[in-house]
Amino acid sequence: MVSRPPDACAQDGGPQSRDWARDVAFDQAHLWHPYAAMGAPVWPVVAADGVRLTLADGRRLIDGMSSWWAAIHGYNHPLLNSAVSAQLGRMAHVMFGGLTHGPAVDLGRRLVDLTPAPLEKVFLCDSGSVAVEVAIKMALQYWQARRRPTKHRLLALRGAYHGDTFAAMSVCDPVTGMHRLFAGLVPEQLFAPRPACRFEDPWEPAAITEFADLIAAHKDELAAVILEPVAQGAGGMWFYHPQYLREVRALCDAHGVLLIADEIATGFGRTGRFLACDHASVTPDILCLGKALTGGYMTLAATMTTAEIAAVIGRGEAGCLMHGPTFMANPLACAAAVASIDLLIADDWQARVGRIADQLARELDVCRGLAAVGDVRVLGAIGVVETREVLDLAALTARFVDAGVWLRPFGRLVYLMPPYVISPEDLSILTATIAAVLADL
Ligand SMILES: *Cc1c(COP(=O)(O)O)cnc(C)c1O
Repeated sequence: MVSRPPDACAQDGGPQSRDWARDVAFDQAHLWHPYAAMGAPVWPVVAADGVRLTLADGRRLIDGMSSWWAAIHGYNHPLLNSAVSAQLGRMAHVMFGGLTHGPAVDLGRRLVDLTPAPLEKVFLCDSGSVAVEVAIKMALQYWQARRRPTKHRLLALRGAYHGDTFAAMSVCDPVTGMHRLFAGLVPEQLFAPRPACRFEDPWEPAAITEFADLIAAHKDELAAVILEPVAQGAGGMWFYHPQYLREVRALCDAHGVLLIADEIATGFGRTGRFLACDHASVTPDILCLGKALTGGYMTLAATMTTAEIAAVIGRGEAGCLMHGPTFMANPLACAAAVASIDLLIADDWQARVGRIADQLARELDVCRGLAAVGDVRVLGAIGVVETREVLDLAALTARFVDAGVWLRPFGRLVYLMPPYVISPEDLSILTATIAAVLADL
């Protein structure tokens, strides 16, 4: 039943004319939020610019999340705004079946240029989870076309997060992921332990042993290994040694298994290198990008692969890659991505990320001394404080909001990945607030 709300015209009148108490009550009664029960607390945001979110009550919060890795240039950026507005004036969307357009070609060129040479075929899709589905489909179709249909399983890492759709779920950590909930429906994959050797520690050859045994034992049924290179994100914010990645690459080559790198969180400089794979000078066979691709403006992701894999898929039974979303290569999203990439390159992101990394390491160090804290780790513009006990998400988020910062802890993790444009002063407020709030636990 659809009834027009009595104050429908007020919706055009901007945030001041809204009844926010009513709106939040409606939201809590009717709208699902990510991984949250209906009715969980939400804060209404009316505007965002730079690194600040403006709440409906006028409070301004310093953003420590980049809206989940995405808003690397901050919010409401004039260059991104004008790129999207210009494209909007020409065409918001057109189907990509049988048609093409400038923003898609411009983005494709940049992605081919910026990624290692053999990656030159680009599939533009709607979201990170879909990019992972497409990557898995590429690997499966590749082995089908090579008449090796038994190679249809994946080897993933514990502690991984690759998205929320079914194939993506199947390669998420089997404990913290949703395998039990959907047992029998999620394909059963193989899992190696979370890489034990920390990013900054000396390499421990034993760290790869179990992975090496698994891939050797199952090579005839494995289509691909999928992993988040060097930095695992939502599955536990864990940073591991680049040598692990080199060993994985060598083992994949030795055993005839493809390597899928999920750089949806790590791509575009977040770990201090353009791709996290660059820490190890490793090139995957299939690469997933997303999140920061559009600078946080719109949902868009990309799956890239080599000419060889694309050619084999093309020779298979289907004759093509069997995927094609309605909103594939949406022009507005592509235009935002082109502008975001150009801005990133022009902006000396290495220096920005390096400065954030140094400051995070310096300022989060005090958290090591806190009774509630078990570990502190920093890689690039990612800072993580791991507590000993599971955190009360709602209570903690509310305390952060009261202190004027936007952080979204989960499990035992308080973490920040600010926009690259954050000033040292604002970043200090974020780190000091984390230390103060955790000191009180
Ligand atoms: C966020 C994320 C995904 C899923 O992307 P969505 O756009 O949320 O579907 C997949 N892999 C990694 C590593 C991610 O961080």
